[in-house]
Amino acid sequence: MTTKTAAAAARATVYGYPRQGPNRELKKAIEGYWKGRVTADALRATAAGLRRANWNELAGAGVHEVPTGDFSMYDHVLDTTVMVGAIPARHRAAFEAAAGTGTRAGALDGYFAMARGTQDVAPLEMTKWFDTNYHYLVPELGPDTEFTADSTKQVAELKEALELGLAARPVLLGPVTYLLLAKPAPGVAPGFDPLTLLDRLLPVYAEVLADLRAAGAAWVQLDEPALVQDRTAAELNAAERAYRDLGGLTDRPKLLVASYFDRLGEALPVLAKAPVDGLALDFTGAAAANLDALAAVGGLPGKRLVAGVVDGRNVWINDYEKSLSTLGTLLGLAGRVDVAASCSLLHVPIDAALERDIDPQIHRWLAFARQKTAELVTLAKGLARGTDAISAELAANRADLASRARSPLTRDAAVRARTGAVTDAAARRSQPYAERAAAQRAHLGLPLLPTTTIGSFPQTGEVRTARADLRAGRIDATGYEQRIEAEIQEVISFQEKAGLDVLVHGEAERNDMVQYFAERLTGYLATQAGWVQSYGTRYVRPPVLAGDISRPEPMTVRWTRYAQSLTDRPVKGMLTGPVTMLAWSFVRDDQPLGETARQVALALRDEVSDLEAAGTSVIQVDEPALRETLPLRKADHAEYLAWATESFRLTTGGVRPDTQIHTHMCYAEFGDVVQAIDDLDADVISLEAARSHMQVARELAAHGYPREAGPGVYDIHSPRVPGADEAAALLRAGLEAIPAERLWVNPDCGLKTRGWPETRASLENLVAAARTVRAEL
Ligand code: GLN
Ligand code: ZN
Repeated sequence: MTTKTAAAAARATVYGYPRQGPNRELKKAIEGYWKGRVTADALRATAAGLRRANWNELAGAGVHEVPTGDFSMYDHVLDTTVMVGAIPARHRAAFEAAAGTGTRAGALDGYFAMARGTQDVAPLEMTKWFDTNYHYLVPELGPDTEFTADSTKQVAELKEALELGLAARPVLLGPVTYLLLAKPAPGVAPGFDPLTLLDRLLPVYAEVLADLRAAGAAWVQLDEPALVQDRTAAELNAAERAYRDLGGLTDRPKLLVASYFDRLGEALPVLAKAPVDGLALDFTGAAAANLDALAAVGGLPGKRLVAGVVDGRNVWINDYEKSLSTLGTLLGLAGRVDVAASCSLLHVPIDAALERDIDPQIHRWLAFARQKTAELVTLAKGLARGTDAISAELAANRADLASRARSPLTRDAAVRARTGAVTDAAARRSQPYAERAAAQRAHLGLPLLPTTTIGSFPQTGEVRTARADLRAGRIDATGYEQRIEAEIQEVISFQEKAGLDVLVHGEAERNDMVQYFAERLTGYLATQAGWVQSYGTRYVRPPVLAGDISRPEPMTVRWTRYAQSLTDRPVKGMLTGPVTMLAWSFVRDDQPLGETARQVALALRDEVSDLEAAGTSVIQVDEPALRETLPLRKADHAEYLAWATESFRLTTGGVRPDTQIHTHMCYAEFGDVVQAIDDLDADVISLEAARSHMQVARELAAHGYPREAGPGVYDIHSPRVPGADEAAALLRAGLEAIPAERLWVNPDCGLKTRGWPETRASLENLVAAARTVRAEL
């Protein structure tokens, strides 16, 4: 095909669409089903209605081929587990009971048992889907795993779309990524490599592909995002073998192999040579490197290329001219070029038009799933018919981009002058750790093995009601503040009675540890309806870093000062760190992340300084997202860690030597960031450790971590109350790695999801354990 005919054939498509429905109908139906208020049939009808609405919307907007099978009642990796029959032994009974004589895909209760566990069986483990904030359920596989195909869900959803008269393309998680995302099942040797099951899995995929073809699928998309990570030669070999086998099948639809979230690197030649009919590649951000890499292997002559030129995981309008230029280059490299978002639109909210409180100027720069779909259609039209066919859209796009580039919202001269003047010294404490530690010891007068908590106390119904009352105008700001103060009084008085050494105010005023700050910083927006799936029926509303960031006034000082006025013991100030603010928000795409982090850091630095001036001697800056934001490719780690650690030090570097800086992370494993943790130069770090029996303490010691640390001795993820002897045993294990002068006693994480009764009992036991072990020193 010539470039011209390739262009003329250009169409728009997407790999997936938000599942929840415009008013989170799916969440309501599923949770209603769990509570017994919604029948299985009603839940299925709601789900089918949402799928239909999505397809009609996509087709109505001009999308040529709609995706099917991307819908999920909980998680698409779990759906794949059901499709290939990798049901863990502990869930089999629930599954068979639920399935009766029907198919596995019909066994709703078995499915939800795997997702959420039951009284008797634990769910599958949940973990982050690459570097997004979506979480999937980890397949559990072993040498005895037998796969069997059940294509019911995939076939049924394809038929639903075909019945609407639409061209539809089923989207499946590819076999290589499925295995690479799996872990050894409980009881299986940890060295077991799930990829060794590939030969057993491929026939199951072959069967599903044949079923889909029989049901009318012309194309099937197989997603292999795991191939954008660093892969071994053996793994690349497995990918090659998988697509040689699947491509060699006679009874199969055309195959489109998709990757996203980063560049394919060494996997690109493997996929380009595979006997499949097309590739879907990401050309946004770091994945733009796919363009040259594709040219270097001679392109995809005669094949279909689906070009992800619209960022599928951020909320900003596309740059049409830039995309059209990429697309134009790609036309010379493939038989046919279609236009897509870089990944499923699952990771963005549905519709920016629902946001009524956002500055109309900023509004024009925003594109959620619905707006991105329109962008894809416009780009496909421009590619197929020439830019004259989209001249109005191009002009409007150019104007919007220009207004964004020169707006005082995105370019605040004062903020820029300040970030530009940052020196290396500003990001360093004035004295080395040893000297600071002595000054802090003298200033704080804490006992050995000091006890503290991570910040939040139970978010009670009263606190949430108070917030709802304030929003609804049933109480005024003063009334709200009184309720928060009452809560703080209770939290402080409990901690004093329990005998904790460093107190906290409890974070009652915070709806969320990122949103609270986003609402108080200029340049940061909260959305009203910008829900994005985090996992299962849990949705979050990430705020948007829209412009240059500044802090019009103190954000937390009032509450910390109030808490400190109630007690003689030190009250720790609590802030969310710059890396976590970025990680759990939509970030700017018009400047490097490090620049945005620096702006946030300077705003937080002012808050730290105000806290210190108000008499706060201990300030904690939480960075639970430090590790989860690591780029997918190791080659990109150093650059990320450089700005990430610098922004933390910029936040905290301005304090006096005797002010103690704490940080907190929620990990049990952090081998690859232990140096970065050291580079934060915090005086004290608290980490999750209870479940791993203080493993982190040993890792810190092995690294030679020189500062103080509080490996958690209370697992806050469950309502279980740890006994004092249990906490004491953990402390003794901690002491084997960290000397008493540097060991803190605290829970794994904040207590906001816990109830008061277990919180009280657990913290009393924690203090008792500290006293027992102190007496042994
Ligand atoms: N200070 C926060 C809290 O206690 C920390 C939460 C977190 O690390 N995720 O809730
Ligand atoms: Zn935590």
